[in-house]
Amino acid sequence: MSLHTDTRKIALVTGGASGIGLAIADEFVKNNIFTIIIGRDQAKLDKAKSAFGDSCETISFDMGKLELIPGLVEDIKSRFGRIDILVNNAGINMKKEFCDVTDADFMQIIQTNLLSVFSLSREVVKVMLPFKSGCIINISSMAAQYGIPKVIAYTASKTALDGMTKAMATELSPKGIRVNSIAPGFIATDMSAKALDSDPERKQKVFSRTPMGYLGETKDIGTTAAFLASDGAKYITGVILPVDGGNSVGF
Ligand code: NDP
Repeated sequence: MSLHTDTRKIALVTGGASGIGLAIADEFVKNNIFTIIIGRDQAKLDKAKSAFGDSCETISFDMGKLELIPGLVEDIKSRFGRIDILVNNAGINMKKEFCDVTDADFMQIIQTNLLSVFSLSREVVKVMLPFKSGCIINISSMAAQYGIPKVIAYTASKTALDGMTKAMATELSPKGIRVNSIAPGFIATDMSAKALDSDPERKQKVFSRTPMGYLGETKDIGTTAAFLASDGAKYITGVILPVDGGNSVGF
């Protein structure tokens, strides 16, 4: 891609080679947004690259390596010139009884789901500020809307992420950078399959409190992210938007 002639918006999507992130990347590409995908699994990255072709670039990077994030963003800036949209989507979950969660387990989740989001956002905001425009979308969870057992570290990470969304929106919106969060309900991906398929009781609970009565599709989150990144959402900032078939309000 040519730095000076390409007028497309440029997006960065972490964890964009699978599940929800892949659906977000797909919608961005369909909306003529050049999309840079970050992930660890080279095979998944290669598959995304062959699906999106010239509309996408992939970078193999472990978001847990906080000290390497400034260099990563510097490299992207020198190659592409700007970053218009950042989607902090990469995340991991861990289902364990409260007393079985070790400090190392807890830290691993916080590192991936929270600390890396802060470090990457800070570096990307430095790139966005001179343009006085930008859009950041954090991918939260129902775990930040109500209590779910056996996901203590995940819950802590996503609840902190929602707080960060509000604080970032307040500080950065006057500088032209909108910050929002999407709170997906239960969406059919590898992550939700791992949490639900071996736990029929939890699966039943999910369906019983989801008024629409079925799991969401990754595309439902993709189209929402594309909307939040569009000019149609230019007055939306600081929002934590549930996309959940009513799960967050279900009885
Ligand atoms: P997946 O497991 O399908 O995808 C997670 C993605 O994150 C993968 O592409 C993975 O890439 C990437 N990733 C994880 N750790 C790292 C890391 N250290 N460095 C770089 N990339 C990383 O899960 P989902 O698509 O379901 O989840 C995406 C987001 O949506 C997560 O933040 C999750 O918490 C959230 N979410 C999901 C819900 C659901 O029902 N599925 C509900 C609510 C929220 P790789 O394999 O290459 O490392």
